[in-house]
Amino acid sequence: MKIRHHLSDPLLMAYSSGDLPEAFNLVIAAHVSLCDECRARLEAFEALGGAVIEEQFEEMSAGSLEACLAKIDDLPMVDTQVARTAEGILPAPLVDYVGGGLDKVKWRSVGMGVKQAILNTSEDGASVRLLAIPGGATLPNHGHNGLEMTLVLQGAFSDASDRFGPGDLEIADDTMQHTPVAETGAVCICLTATQGKLRFNALLPRMVQSIFRI
Ligand code: ZN
Ligand code: ZN
Repeated sequence: MKIRHHLSDPLLMAYSSGDLPEAFNLVIAAHVSLCDECRARLEAFEALGGAVIEEQFEEMSAGSLEACLAKIDDLPMVDTQVARTAEGILPAPLVDYVGGGLDKVKWRSVGMGVKQAILNTSEDGASVRLLAIPGGATLPNHGHNGLEMTLVLQGAFSDASDRFGPGDLEIADDTMQHTPVAETGAVCICLTATQGKLRFNALLPRMVQSIFRI
């Protein structure tokens, strides 16, 4: 897998410090499990975090060190397990999330041959879903009211910014407006996390938006 579009340093740092909503954590964990480059950078950030903790140890008395170590044992660990491909195209963190492979995904049609499966919507307004877009199909032109992160699992899509193939991650924010088009051939399957509602320009997508919670 030749991955060309990666995570930014600020996103990797926010992920390793646990500052992101679960929807984005899932997309990042999925990309990291497929991408040696981002996994190495994440491990570097985690080592940095560890070095900071070690420095603080040196300033502590022996007794409080023990108490501190016990506390650290309770901290949740970032999952950096390597990719597992036994379940087909779904990366390991996603297999854990949906409880199996693609056959476990509950797809719903959203029109024009496009299907989606909402995996999680949290109270902070961030949501994560799988999208299946037939080859050659175009998604409605839209803007964003927050961060949008899209990981390609199968097939490819393009927009004005570039082409995104398997393993590639597109990061869009509120300054970006785009019209993703799936490449002809295989169905394009993506994992997409969004924060805030998308801003559609045409009337019809605006109407279906409330129905499908996009
Ligand atoms: Zn990467
Ligand atoms: Zn978008």
